[in-house]
Amino acid sequence: MTGRRERPQSRDALAVGQRSTGGRVVVVGTGLAGLSAALALAARGVSISLIGPGYQSNLALRDTRSTALFGPSLDFLRRIGVLDRVTPAPVPLVGLRLIDATGGIVRAPEVLFESNEIGLSEFGMNIENASLLAALAAAVANAPDIQWHAAMLAECEPGLDVARLRFTDGTVLDAELVVGADGEGSACRRAARIATRAWTYPQTAIASRFAHRRPHRGISIELHRRSGPLTTVPLAGNWSSLVWVEGPAEAARLTALDDDAFVGELEESLGGALGSVSGIGRRASFPLSGVTAEPIAARRVALVGEAAHRLPPIGAQGLNLGLRDGAWLADIVAETLALGEDPGAPTLLAAYDRCRRGDVVSRTAVVDALNRSLLADMLPVDLVRGAGLAAMKAIGPVRRAFMREGMAPSGPLPTLMQPLVPTVGTPPV
Ligand SMILES: Cc1cc2nc3c(=O)[nH]c(=O)nc-3n(C[C@H](O)[C@H](O)[C@H](O)COP(=O)(O)OP(=O)(O)OC[C@H]3O[C@@H](n4cnc5c(N)ncnc54)[C@H](O)[C@@H]3O)c2cc1C
Repeated sequence: MTGRRERPQSRDALAVGQRSTGGRVVVVGTGLAGLSAALALAARGVSISLIGPGYQSNLALRDTRSTALFGPSLDFLRRIGVLDRVTPAPVPLVGLRLIDATGGIVRAPEVLFESNEIGLSEFGMNIENASLLAALAAAVANAPDIQWHAAMLAECEPGLDVARLRFTDGTVLDAELVVGADGEGSACRRAARIATRAWTYPQTAIASRFAHRRPHRGISIELHRRSGPLTTVPLAGNWSSLVWVEGPAEAARLTALDDDAFVGELEESLGGALGSVSGIGRRASFPLSGVTAEPIAARRVALVGEAAHRLPPIGAQGLNLGLRDGAWLADIVAETLALGEDPGAPTLLAAYDRCRRGDVVSRTAVVDALNRSLLADMLPVDLVRGAGLAAMKAIGPVRRAFMREGMAPSGPLPTLMQPLVPTVGTPPV
């Protein structure tokens, strides 16, 4: 990567130009996926320039969401020096309770998935997004091979040998590989002329946190309702995070309620599952949509996180997928550089696309089908969903296979997600 200046620069911009000599990879986007991809690449020995809003101006600092991350994602965060920095400490998730609250003629049985059934002390951990962002930013600040340049990408021109990047402060950099982690509306994706399959749902998620009287005992609850799921995920103490999916008008009404009225409606919707609700945090809304980039990499641009895929917040898949993107890309880039080859070559981009496609497409399809099965309000669809849940409740091997596949795809894991601690005991089949 080479840096040059087109007009007078800030000190920061000049510094990036100087530091960039010899670097070949630029990560654009400083959200959860971008910071973790930069750390993954650095952990595999690749020097990075990181472009995006500085930590203090990052919108994610005000994020009201939490993220449930599964075993391989947690091993990854441990290896890149992030998990120990998260405060307050992540909360273990030992169970998932699915409750049919659709009110349909066919009511699916309630199913409880427990991590000890597959020989694990927990499925994963729940981490508040603002805490995760702070921990990632602190790890980046301590990584000598990552230079964080607080600017926005204004233009990206992929060429034959390099992609030319222009930033809002006038800096110009040439990179052999651009890692596009710039979210759903990705400018990197557009610049590389990568097509998308995009769709919307008549639903909005309200994300917040709330206090409740009964302990959650590490169990997440997913109430399946006609308008979408209402999910609680354990936080420290008698607190849980909330993802409440409703039609857009109902979501707007709920968001506009004062705290007491919202607490009352939440308590009623939960039907006493966590006892009385005694407090509520700030609320934010997220319209539900889906996007899949096809392909996930082209013309010197490799996409990670929501730049590559967006899916409804059901089953905690989005960032788990995004972390796998970064970890696999780090392996492929490190191996390519070790052979003295071009990290943005078409062969590398095709290998990354092949490696990620199945995981992205299959998880997007399952989450989409589950969400649409709730919205459908049709007896045959209810019958199929009910039969699926009944099979999971009654047949141990089906239930255990579902739990394992929900946590990560079967098959090989990238280097940075290999288990750090061997699993205790032999999981039953
Ligand atoms: C309600 C809800 C609950 C969820 N719960 C879970 C869960 O439990 N588990 C899970 O795995 N996933 C979950 N997800 C999904 C997860 O939150 C997302 O996958 C994740 O936040 C996406 O992060 P990202 O970094 O890809 O995108 P973003 O957060 O959108 O970050 C993109 C970054 O790029 C920057 N950027 C944009 N344009 C430019 C530019 N031109 N130049 C430079 N920088 C730019 C932005 O400023 C931003 O910092 C949930 C999602 C929702 C909506």
